[in-house]
Formats: sequence, C-alpha cells, structure tokens
Amino acid sequence: SGAAAPAAAQPSFWGDYRDSWLSTQRRVDDLMSRMSLQDKLGQMVQITRGAAGPTEVASHRIGSVLSGGGSSPSPNTPEAWADMYDGYQRSALDTPLGIPILYGVDAVHGHNNVRGATIFPHNIGLGATRNPELVRRIGAATAEEVAATGVDWTFSPCLCVARDDRWGRTYESFGETPELASSMTSEIRGYQGAVLGGDPTSIMATAKHYVGDGGTTGGTDQGNTQLSEQELRRIHLPPFREAVERGVGSVMVSYSSWNGDKLHAHDYLINDVLKGELGFDGIVLSDYNAVHQLDGNDNTLTASEVRVAVNAGLDMIMLSKDHGKFLDHLRREVESGRVPMRRIDDATRRILTKKFELGLFERPFAQRELLSTVGSQEHRQLARQAVRESQVLLKNEGVLPLSSGTDKLFVAGSNADDIGNQSGGWTISWQGSSGDITEGTTILEGIRQLSDSSVTYNRHGDGINSSYDAAVAVVGEKPYAEYQGDRPNGLALSQEDLNTIDKLRSSGVPVIVVLASGRPMDIASEVGNWDALLASWLPGTQGGGVADVLFGEYNPTGELPMTWMRSFDQQPINTGDDKDPLYPYGYGLSYRE
Ligand code: BGC
Repeated sequence: SGAAAPAAAQPSFWGDYRDSWLSTQRRVDDLMSRMSLQDKLGQMVQITRGAAGPTEVASHRIGSVLSGGGSSPSPNTPEAWADMYDGYQRSALDTPLGIPILYGVDAVHGHNNVRGATIFPHNIGLGATRNPELVRRIGAATAEEVAATGVDWTFSPCLCVARDDRWGRTYESFGETPELASSMTSEIRGYQGAVLGGDPTSIMATAKHYVGDGGTTGGTDQGNTQLSEQELRRIHLPPFREAVERGVGSVMVSYSSWNGDKLHAHDYLINDVLKGELGFDGIVLSDYNAVHQLDGNDNTLTASEVRVAVNAGLDMIMLSKDHGKFLDHLRREVESGRVPMRRIDDATRRILTKKFELGLFERPFAQRELLSTVGSQEHRQLARQAVRESQVLLKNEGVLPLSSGTDKLFVAGSNADDIGNQSGGWTISWQGSSGDITEGTTILEGIRQLSDSSVTYNRHGDGINSSYDAAVAVVGEKPYAEYQGDRPNGLALSQEDLNTIDKLRSSGVPVIVVLASGRPMDIASEVGNWDALLASWLPGTQGGGVADVLFGEYNPTGELPMTWMRSFDQQPINTGDDKDPLYPYGYGLSYRE
C-alpha cells in the first residue's frame, strides 16, 4: 500500500502465511493450522454492511461484507466508499490473525452503486453487440473503478440464459442462447485480469446464478425450472462450464429450484456437477438470505437449513441478518458431526485461497491512485462505444440516419431525457429510479449534441406540427429489478407512451421510435405505424451512443440477443421454436448493406 494508505496494525507474530514469497498453498496451510473452529466458521459468513459495522465484523471473525441490492444506502462519493472499505479492513487486520475481509458488490454494469461511476449498458445490450472483446474491456474498466473504492469482488457476470421475457431479470442476461452467454464470459477475464492476483486492478468475478435461473416456468423470478437433465445441461450449464474454464473466482447459487428442488440444497448440482465434473475450485456463494428460504419460512434460519446448505457445497453464506444464529447453528452441526469438519476446512481453504490470490494480505486497502478512473472520459468513451454497438435497428422506412445539418427535430417520450430510466435497475439503488440519479448524458442530450439545427423537446409530444422533418419518440420501460420486474400479464407500452406516439403521428411527421427497455416489448400492433424502430435496451449513462446511431455516425451492427415476440401469448419464445416471431433472434438492419 502507498504512503497515503492507513497503516496496517502490526501483527502479533510473523507466520509463514504472511510471506508472499511462499506458494499460496503453503500460506493457506500455515494459516489454517493457526485457526480455531470459530475462526473458520466466521470466514464462511458474508454480511451486509447495514447489519454489521467494522467492530462487529472483526469480533465474529466474519470473512466478507457486501453492499447488496436491498441494503442500506451507499456512501455518496467514491472517496467515501474507499474510507468505508478501509474502515472494515483496518478492523479485520487488527485481530490476532489479521485476515483481511473480502468486500463484494453488484457491479453489474459498471460500479453502479457509486454516484459518478461510468454506467455501461445492461447485459442484454452487450449481448446485442456480439463483441466479447468489447465486453472484456468493459470488465477491465469496471474493475479499475471498483478497485479504486477498495471493493474486491463483483457479483457479475450474470450468465443466466433468459428464456422468457416475462422474467424481471431478462436484462441481466446476455441473451437467450447458451452460446451467446458463454461467449461473454470474456468479461470474467476483464474483471480478474490474466491472473487474479498480482494486478491491483483485478477484482474477483462471480458467475451467477447457478443454474437454470433463466428457465423458470412463466418467467417467475426465483421460481422452478422444469426441465430434463439433458435440457438443463444443453441450455443452462454451458456458460458456467466456460466460466470455470476461464478461472472465475466464485459462483453464486440461484434462488430457483430445478424440478422442485431448491438449488441451495442441491448436493448433486453443486458438489457433483459444479465442483466435481466442472472442477470448480473457487468459492460457492449463496444468494441473499437464500438459505433462510429452504424450510419454507423465509424469516427464520434453522439448523437444518444451515446443515443442508453447507453439506450441499455452499462455502460462503450471504446474509442480511442472523449471522450470530448462523454461526451458532453451524458450530453445533459440526460438533455433532452432522456437518463434517472436512467440509468446513474445504470451504475455509477455498475462501482463503482467493484472498491470497487477490493479494489482499499484501495490499489490503483501497487502490486510491485509481480514483481518477471513476467516471473518467476514457471509460465513458468505452461505454459510448458499447452503446453504439448494442443498438439494434429493427425497422427503417428510409428515415434514418438523420441528417445533422438539415433535419429539424422534435423529441418526445418518457425515456428521452431521464438518466435513471435509460440506466434501469441496479443503478445507484437496487430497483433503480427515474430522474437525475447520477452523472451522464441523456438520449435527448446526445441528440442535441449531434444536431446542428434546432431540437425541440416535449415529453408528451405537445407542440409537434408538420414543420418538423422528423420526430423521435424515446419510450419503453421504467426501472425495476428482480421479481419486481416480473410481468406475467403483458409487456405492452404504457398508455402515456402510446399517447405520445399518437400525438407525434397525427402531425404527419415521420416517427422514429427508440425503445429503451430491458427486453422485447409487445409492439406488433403498433409498429406498422412507425417509420423506424431502434431497440436501445438499457444503455446506461452514455446516451450519446444512441444519437451516434440515429445520425449515422455509427452504422448499426447490433443483432437481437432475444427472439422478438409477435404476441405476448407466444411467451416463452426462443430461437428454434416452431413459432412465428416479429423479428427472429439475430435480426438487425444497418444503413448500408
Ligand atoms: C440477487 C443477486 C445479488 C444479491 C446481492 C440478490 O437478491 O439475486 O443477484 O447478487 O441479491 O445484492
């Protein structure tokens, strides 16, 4: 750590595990030999920041802390994040063995809990780019911003293969095919660097959610995936195999069930398939309070839930409460022999190995020299490039590209001038929210920057008349995350958006619809009236990339990562089905063929 970093507490003794010249295995062996049962069990806990401060974490010898979706508000600035992180780390180092904590966040499209960070397109847009190298670079840029604030670990990438648009997490998926999700495991390389350790800008990645989360019946979040083993292996397992081959440091288990059995209790899928057959040797992490759900009552954590989950192969348990109870239960289960000591040793070993590989013992504090990369021009430029490549042109009756010099434009729509809406869920807060939630360029601002003539904006389309050359309606979804985004009853545009488009159309001016949404929407009955349609997905903070495509500064290359329904009742609809989609998987136009 540099001169600015706080001084580490002096260890009470020098042990082999502190010697960075020794092999990781030797260091782990040495450290394990010094640890009590309590020390080991503590490592297996990951607790939310809101539920345990630095002192509490240190006194329970807790191994990991997270700022999760549903937890208390984040610090306001990158510097405040670094201070918060260093506070936990100082406290952990000040224990007899001085084992640093691992701090994890959902940096799922950039360091999205931090105001001012670069927000990249959500995965569904990255899937549309078909560009794994770009996605690797996004992972690397995100790792810099995350490491600057101290955080060591991201719960990303989501390798779910989203098979049903009704699912509220569809936008967290790179797309509906295993090939597409597998190809984007390049992001793991970006996050983790060539090797986990040795590089201050690497953070640990998480392949989630193991396995079948995108295949639940009806697209119900945390639901049941009813599939033969052959189909589970064909559709949902391949991205995890690829992630393991790329050395992913952790795998998060899915809340969902497979043929009625909860994944968090699935000895066969975790121990036999993931750890055995796939050879995964990193950390298997539970989802947030998922172990609480095993016995049916979500609010209580029972001894049997703890036993079943740990014996099924869970190494670290993510909790927002009950860490004391968890530790008591697990200690009794071990003392009675119902959880074998070798299971505890295996879990501890996996966790410590990653801590050594990340270089945490040598470099425990925030990498503050990287703070200038948070929201830097370079990263925003990369994000803009990603936005350009993610746009999928679905219809164009000769109105696009717009001409920057001559076209007099009218812009309207609920998502035209709203950073929050164009960023979606998992932005500043778990659910995301409308409005000016962080720094960036809205789609309207991007259009204004590229147009040399006047641009008129009215959210509802009021004031449009036939003197304009074209009208752009930016419509779509409002932010949501997880089950709150499940839409079992329909995916139509809102009445507000439909009215806006109607108003624009009544002027006789050509109407270009830009759809900023986390998934395909039910538009077949409307699209015949539109002159152009651009699927923008959830582009994040760099709305200029959408404008680049509208004005032909970038000739669209995006291809659909999802089959686009002709009617809502076709759900689930996927490539290879015998259904008639509006636009097939892989579809996408450009300006010059
Ligand atoms: C989500 C995970 C996420 C975790 C921590 C859970 O509700 O399912 O994807 O990593 O919360 O925020």
